[in-house]
Amino acid sequence: MPKETILVVEDEEDILELIRYNLAKEGYQVLYSYTGEDGLVKAFNHSPNLVLLDLMLPGLDGLEVCKRLKRDPRSEHIPIIMVTARGEEADVVTGLELGADDYVTKPFSPRVLLARIRSVLRRRSQSQEESNDPLSIHDVVIHPGRHEVTVKGKRVDLTATEFRILQYLARRPGWVFTRYQIVDAVHGQEYPVTERSIDVQIAALRKKLGSAGKYIETVRGVGYRFKE
Ligand code: CA
Repeated sequence: MPKETILVVEDEEDILELIRYNLAKEGYQVLYSYTGEDGLVKAFNHSPNLVLLDLMLPGLDGLEVCKRLKRDPRSEHIPIIMVTARGEEADVVTGLELGADDYVTKPFSPRVLLARIRSVLRRRSQSQEESNDPLSIHDVVIHPGRHEVTVKGKRVDLTATEFRILQYLARRPGWVFTRYQIVDAVHGQEYPVTERSIDVQIAALRKKLGSAGKYIETVRGVGYRFKE
């Protein structure tokens, strides 16, 4: 049965071989790179279903690779699982903020790694399905396909960026997102979005949503969330 393609970016031969063997045994197509630079090229050219990314790489390090993958329209949709050593928690937080989906800590068992991969791939295919269905929450309905939002049945005109921010927050009600995560999620628009400008966008969005504006809550010192 043909399975997904996974790109493994790892400079340590032994670990790469262990991962490669176990993924192939499960039927995954495996691509690999020993460096971040080569990993980027392979990700852009082959569009794998998932990238397994070691953080400690010579040259371009894993976080930089993660950042570039998530900032490039050719690869921003590809889920990333970071591979880290113990003591790299700060890097894990940064990586998650940059858009990585999950991480595993060395040494890991092949069984744990495969379970994480399956879980990320499953989550990803679910969110793709969701992305075409209208999202209805409180009295707000978001139609992703049509880029349209209604409040109590009445259409609200939003800019593309406002729409993306609303959709991003409303997909996970109750979850707090940092300004940085929101910037990352709406990146790809025609003009640069800074963390400060997110505050301005949110203010405009609340105003346009009228009575539903209150569902976008400020979490002091952290960021924003859509009311659960
Ligand atoms: Ca390494």
